[in-house]
Amino acid sequence: MRSLRPHQSHALDRLLRSVASGKRRPVVQLPTGAGKTILAGEIIRRARAKGNRALFVVPALSLIDQTVESFWRDDIREIGVIQADHPMTNPDRPVQIASVQSLIRRPKPDVKLVIVDECHVMNRAFLEWLADPSMRDVIVVGLSATPWAQGMGKHYDDLIICSTIRDLIEAKYLSPFRVFAPAHPDLTGVGTVAGDFQKGQLEAAMNKSVLVADIVSTWFRMGEGRPTLAFGVDRAHAKHIQAQFEASGIPCGYVDAYTTMDERKVVRDKFHRGEYKIVSNVGCLTTGTDWDVRCIIDARPTKSEILLTQIYGRGLRIAEGKDDLIILDHADNYTRHGFVTDIFHDKLDDGTPKPPKKRSQPLPKECPKCSYLRPPKLAQCPNCGFKAEAGPSTVETAEGSLSEVVRGTGSKATAPKGHVRIGKAVIHLADFYGMLKKRCRERNYREGWAANQYKEAVGTWPNKYRDVPEKPVSWEVDCWLKANLIRHAHARKTQKQPAGEAHAGT
Ligand SMILES: [Zn+2]
Repeated sequence: MRSLRPHQSHALDRLLRSVASGKRRPVVQLPTGAGKTILAGEIIRRARAKGNRALFVVPALSLIDQTVESFWRDDIREIGVIQADHPMTNPDRPVQIASVQSLIRRPKPDVKLVIVDECHVMNRAFLEWLADPSMRDVIVVGLSATPWAQGMGKHYDDLIICSTIRDLIEAKYLSPFRVFAPAHPDLTGVGTVAGDFQKGQLEAAMNKSVLVADIVSTWFRMGEGRPTLAFGVDRAHAKHIQAQFEASGIPCGYVDAYTTMDERKVVRDKFHRGEYKIVSNVGCLTTGTDWDVRCIIDARPTKSEILLTQIYGRGLRIAEGKDDLIILDHADNYTRHGFVTDIFHDKLDDGTPKPPKKRSQPLPKECPKCSYLRPPKLAQCPNCGFKAEAGPSTVETAEGSLSEVVRGTGSKATAPKGHVRIGKAVIHLADFYGMLKKRCRERNYREGWAANQYKEAVGTWPNKYRDVPEKPVSWEVDCWLKANLIRHAHARKTQKQPAGEAHAGT
């Protein structure tokens, strides 16, 4: 049996006090990764100690088996599962586990406690059952990382916030993150339906080859080769992202709601073995919840705080050797929500229309040099050291001082004398030029290519390194070169286009 962490026992205390004070439908807010199922196990154990029967409800069939496993590990073994043809079906057992969909179609178990996992997913038939007079004395505990759905306050009567993402990052139970805003898609003309962007119009705005190419080249520059989960608007968009990565030589997996459990397992294993650097997906409840994700590509503009928190939550698990999560926000979601840690509500939504709320905090600011999003009051960029007031004239481009980096590399601008910073790596200028020479010869590039690349990165010509030996091209330099290739190819395309149009018009 696993013991409760401090925030879990704190949550349990407050839950017990809430029920003791007469509440019957409390919601406990716990971030993803905070060990919700362990807390649920403890609540159930206490109910069982009093001889009460309990029901645990999950929002998807695919979550049943992992819930059984988790309870089993916590010594809860008297489990029955409510699901057609499940080997553990046994209505006599005192702890029943069901998906919402199976439950609403079947006779309901007689219980004194119901725990509703992901209770922000509201199913009407299920809520009607809970509202039935016969259920009045049953304690219903909602669990959610994002209890912000409209109208939740009509079905639940208390909100217990025991820890937030920010708290858990500070306590080192969740990973810190850095956000970059490398792109600003044009969403004018995209309408709003049920509180979020209209999907079809959003897809049309986001699924453009220039935007998708930018996702790939940005990842080469800033993704540090990390295990990455990419989020697209819909299947066409997510598949386009996958195809672009594959075309650039990066094996990329794909998952959506139609991917079977078995296929999902294959993708997950390949991801963890490094055979897939990236998995592109359409945000669904179960993808990536237990994956070791260290970079997130967010290409899914959303007005939904729930969806945004779910997406970013996929990368916040801590792991061996993981310093932080990199978020590449290609969706401008920071302009709608700020940082994911800024999202906070102290009450359940009661469904009444509200005036547009004013932000309690100003939005983060984008560093003009590295596109890092920094807290609004910081004058100097903590990521690259850039200071807005000083102006670009203080950025020396001479070799050996501050080497100017391409906008949005995400890396610190400073490199020690005689070095250049490419991505995360600091490389001696002689080695750097040696790598460029090797690449130039291997690919039969024209003469002067290596010197031009060198100048683009360093700011000066490689005169004194002309005779250095060739060097094997490192991963970082390879990524940087690929990013340049994609960027230049698209610059050429967009330059050509207007001329072509003019020609067509004559
Ligand atoms: Zn910066």
